[in-house]
Amino acid sequence: MAANGIPEDVLMDHDLIKDLVDVAKDSALLNGVLMRTKETPNSSEVVTYAPFTLFPSPVPKAIFHQALAVQTHYNRLVDKISQDSSFLEEALASTIKVDDFTGRLFNIYRHVLQEGKTQSIVLGLNRSDYMLDQNGDGSASLKQIEINTIAASFGGLASHTPNIHRHILKVAGRLEDSKRILDNNPSAGLAKGLAKAWDLYGSERAVVLVLVEELQRNIFDHRYVENELWKRNIPVIRRQFEDVSKTGFLDQDKRLFVDGREVAIVYFRNGYMPQNYTEQNWEARLMMERSMAVKCPDISTHLAGTKKVQQELARPGVLERFFPGEPDVVDQIRATFAGLYTLDMGPEGDKTVAMALAKPDQFVLKPQREGGGNNIYGAEICQVLEGVKQSTERMTYILMDKVQPRPVHNYLLRLGTPLKLSTCLSELGVFGAYVRHGQDMVLNECAGHLLRTKSDEHSDGGVAAGVAVLDNPLLV
Ligand code: ADP
Ligand code: MG
Ligand code: MG
Repeated sequence: MAANGIPEDVLMDHDLIKDLVDVAKDSALLNGVLMRTKETPNSSEVVTYAPFTLFPSPVPKAIFHQALAVQTHYNRLVDKISQDSSFLEEALASTIKVDDFTGRLFNIYRHVLQEGKTQSIVLGLNRSDYMLDQNGDGSASLKQIEINTIAASFGGLASHTPNIHRHILKVAGRLEDSKRILDNNPSAGLAKGLAKAWDLYGSERAVVLVLVEELQRNIFDHRYVENELWKRNIPVIRRQFEDVSKTGFLDQDKRLFVDGREVAIVYFRNGYMPQNYTEQNWEARLMMERSMAVKCPDISTHLAGTKKVQQELARPGVLERFFPGEPDVVDQIRATFAGLYTLDMGPEGDKTVAMALAKPDQFVLKPQREGGGNNIYGAEICQVLEGVKQSTERMTYILMDKVQPRPVHNYLLRLGTPLKLSTCLSELGVFGAYVRHGQDMVLNECAGHLLRTKSDEHSDGGVAAGVAVLDNPLLV
C-alpha cells in the first residue's frame, strides 16, 4: 500500500501517531493553515486548523511535472474558448435548453455579446484538477477531472501547508522525506495575475472587489491572496452580491462603483452555484459583467469551465481547431483527457446511456454543477438514467470514465472527527494565471499546486464540501 509513501510500520505506531497528531495541529495553527468554525463562520474570535492529512501522499515525479507543464496550455485553451462564441453556442446549445442555471449564465453572456465588450483586459485564475489513473502495469496516467474557471480555492492555504508536513516528517524521524516536500506559493501566483490586471486597468484608487459568500469559513484562504495585493499597495474590499445590488452602479463610461469606490477587478469567490443567486443577485451579476471592471472570470470564461464544454473538447478534432499548427500542444492536453461522453438526444447519447447502464461502476454521471457533492456514482447512475433517459432532461448531464487512483493509507485530521487510519485517494490541482490585453497574452503562468486527499469511502470530493482535506505531494 505504501508505494514509496510513508511505511506501514510508521502508520501503525500508535504512540508515535498520537504525538504527531498533536504536533501537526499546532503546526497548522502556527503556519496559519486556518479555517473559521462551522458554529461561527463569520467571526475570527475562535478559529481552527483547516482539515489536512497527517502525512504527505506519494505522487510520481514525472506525472507531477507533466501536470505543471500542461497548465499554460490549459490557460490558453480556456482563453481561446472564451473568445469563440460560435463554439460556446454550439457546445452549450443542448445544455442551456434544459439546465436553468447554465441557461441563465448564458443569457448574461448573450446580453454582453450583443451590447459589445467594454473591457479588453481579461484575467483568468483557474485550477485544473487531476487524478492518477492506475494502469495495469503499476504505472499511472494523469487524467483531468475538471477545470475550475471560477472561485478556484485553496491557493492561499496551500502556500502554507508544505511547512507543516516538513515539520511532521522531521519529528517522525524522516528528515530525508521532509526535504522532498516542495515549496508552493499559489497566493503569490494568483496575486501576480490580479496585480497585472489592476496595473493595466490603470487607476491607483480603484479597488479589487472580492465577491464573497454569506458564510465565510474559508476567509483565510482569501486573505492570503488579498494580503499579497495590499503588499503591493493595491486596495482590496470584500463585498457580497447584496452590497453590489444596494450600492453598485455604472457611470456613463460603464465604470463600476460599489460603496462609492471604483472597482478595477471583480474577483468572484462566489457565484458558481444556483444557491448563490437571488433575482437581485442575477441582476448584480449582469451589471458587473456589463461594466468596465475586469471580471475574474468574465461570463464567457465562466462558461468555458462547464463540464459540458469539457466533454465537447474531448471530441475528435476540437482541440485541433483551437491550436492549429500546434500538434504538440494538442497532444499534451489530450493526453490528460479521460473518456467523456455526451448525453444529448440522438444515437450518440443513446449509446452513452446503454454503456453507463451496463457498467455503472466504471463511470461518473455529472450535472453542470460546482462545489462538490453533485455527481452520481454506481447504482445511482442507473436509477437516475432510467428516470431521465427518454427525456431531454438527460442533457443536463455528461458521462465520464471513472478514474481509479491507487489508494494509500493516511490519517485525515479534521476538527471533531475521531482519528483513524483511512484508505485514501488524492486529487492534484494545478493553478493557472493569465492576463490578456486585447490580442496580447501579457502573462501566462502556472501558479502552483494543490493536493487534496479524501477517504475512499467517499466517491465525491471537495474540501469545502467537508470530504477532502489539504495535503502535499511527496514526489517519488
Ligand atoms: P466539482 O466541480 O463539484 O468539484 P468534480 O468534477 O471535481 O466537480 O467532481 C467532484 C469530485 O468527484 C472530485 O473531486 C472527485 O473526487 C470525484 N470525481 C469527479 N470526476 C471523477 C472521475 N471521472 N473519476 C473519479 N472521481 C471523480
Ligand atoms: Mg469544479
Ligand atoms: Mg472539483
